[in-house]
Amino acid sequence: MLYESTRGGLKNIMSAEAIKRGLADDGGLFVPQSVVKLTLDEISSLASMNYNERAVYILGRFLDDYTHEELIECVRGAYSGGKFEDNHVAPVRKLNGSTYIMELWHGPTYAFKDVALQILPRLLVKANLKTKESAQTVILVATSGDTGKAALEGFKDVEGTRIIVFFPENGVSQVQKMQMVTQVGGNVSSVAVRGNFDDTQSGVKAIFSDREMREKMLDNGLKFSSANSINWGRLVPQIVYYFSAYADLLASGEITMGEKINFAVPTGNFGNILAGWYARQMGLPIGRLICASNDNNVLSEFINSGTYDCEREFRRTISPSMDILISSNLERLLYELSEHDGRKVADWMSMLKEEGRYTVDSQVMQRVSELFWGSYTTEDKTIETIREVFDNYGYVVDPHTAVGVDVYDKYVISTADMTKTVIVSTASPFKFNESVARAILGEEAVAGKSEYELLGILAEECALEIPVGLAGLENKEILHKGVCGKDEMKETVRQILQI
Ligand SMILES: *Cc1c(COP(=O)(O)O)cnc(C)c1O
Repeated sequence: MLYESTRGGLKNIMSAEAIKRGLADDGGLFVPQSVVKLTLDEISSLASMNYNERAVYILGRFLDDYTHEELIECVRGAYSGGKFEDNHVAPVRKLNGSTYIMELWHGPTYAFKDVALQILPRLLVKANLKTKESAQTVILVATSGDTGKAALEGFKDVEGTRIIVFFPENGVSQVQKMQMVTQVGGNVSSVAVRGNFDDTQSGVKAIFSDREMREKMLDNGLKFSSANSINWGRLVPQIVYYFSAYADLLASGEITMGEKINFAVPTGNFGNILAGWYARQMGLPIGRLICASNDNNVLSEFINSGTYDCEREFRRTISPSMDILISSNLERLLYELSEHDGRKVADWMSMLKEEGRYTVDSQVMQRVSELFWGSYTTEDKTIETIREVFDNYGYVVDPHTAVGVDVYDKYVISTADMTKTVIVSTASPFKFNESVARAILGEEAVAGKSEYELLGILAEECALEIPVGLAGLENKEILHKGVCGKDEMKETVRQILQI
C-alpha cells in the first residue's frame, strides 16, 4: 500500500515514510492511495480472534512494508502485559436491546487515545530503522488534554525519540494537567500555553512548516514528527476497534453476519469517526456514522449544511477534548469523497485559512449526508444525560461519552432508525470526575471539593474502583513547570532542544 498527500503534491510514499513524516510537505495529510477491502468471510474470521490478532490482521493490510513479525511485536508491546485492564483494548457492553457501549479507555491514561498512542511510537521506531533515518525524532504535540498524556506515556524513554507536549493552560482539567506535569521519563517535556487549543495547535503546525527551524534541527541531528491524529500511524490503529466491536457482537450472537450496525462517536478532531469511515469503506457493515459534537458544533453543522465555518467564538465545555474548531482529519474525508482531487481540497483548505469557511460541492455534500448524521449537545444536556444514563442503567459515562449518548438519542428520535448501535465511549468517568459527580450526586456534593477528593466520593457512591493511575495523583512531584505565550512556542522548543 502506498500513500499520497490530500493536497496532491506527493505520491507513492511507503507507510513507514508517511508515519515518520507525520504531515506531508505540501501541508496535506497522508492517505492510502487505494482501497483495502475485506470480504464478509474475512470479517467473520475476526470473531474468533483476540484483539491483538485482529490488530495485526487489519494493520497488515495498510502497513504492508512492515513484516508480519514486526507488526506482531508492535501490537504485543502496545496492548499486552496488562497495559490495558483485563488485556482487552475495546470491550463492548450492552446498554439495552439495541444500544451498546464500546469502552476505549482501559489503557494507561484512561482515554481512548491510548489505543493509538501506545502503538504509534513502536511503529515510528521501526519506520526510522526501515528508512535508515539517522536523525533523532522530536515529537511535537498540541493537546486539548487527553492526547498529551497518552503521547507522553507512549513515548517516554523510547530510544531515539524526544517528546514536547503543549497544552492550553486553562483548557484542560485539573487531573489532565497533573497527569502531564508529573510525567516521568528522560525524553519528555510538557509546557502550558497561554491560549486555547486552536492557538496551541496552530502554533505547533507553524513550527512544523517553519523552514528555518527544520534546517536548524537537521544541523543538530534532529527531525520533527507528529503524534497528533494527523499522523496516519495514529489513525490506522483506530480502524481496528470498529472491526473488533463488530466481531465481538458477532461472537456473542448479538448480530448476524452482514447485519448493518451504526456507530455514534463523540467527535473533536474527526480522527476517531474517520477511522470508522475507513472501516466502512473496507466493507464493514456500517449503516450510519453518527457524529456527536458539543457546543463547538462546527462539524455537526457542516454535516447538515455542507459549509464548514469556524468563524465563531470558541467555547470551553465540560467535554474539553472535543473543544475544537478546526477538525484536521476532515480533510482526509473530503479528499476521499471527492475522488482524490487534491486541488479541490487544497482550495477548500486555503479558503478555510483565509476566510474561516468553505462550502463543499453538491456531490461531496450528498455523500456526506448519506454516510453521516450529525448533531450536538449543550452543556446542561450533557450533565442531564450523565444522570439519566446512571439512573436508567446504573452505568457511569464521562461527559464526552454523554455527548455521544445524547446525540444518538436525537438521531433515533429524528430518524426512527432502530438499527443496533455502538456508542463509542472515549474516556473513563474518573478522568472528568467533577462534571460526573455534579451530574450524579448533585451540586452540593461537589461544592468546595477538589477533583482528587471527588475521585474517592464518586468511586464510593457509584461502587466503582478508582483507576490506579489516577489514585494519589495530587501527591506526585510536579516535574514540568513551563508556561509560554502562544507566540513563544517556537522559542520554547529551541530552548528545550538547546538549538
Ligand atoms: C480526543 C477525544 C475525543 C475526540 O476524538 P477525535 O478523534 O479528535 O474526534 C473525544 N473524547 C475524548 C475523551 C477524547 O480524548
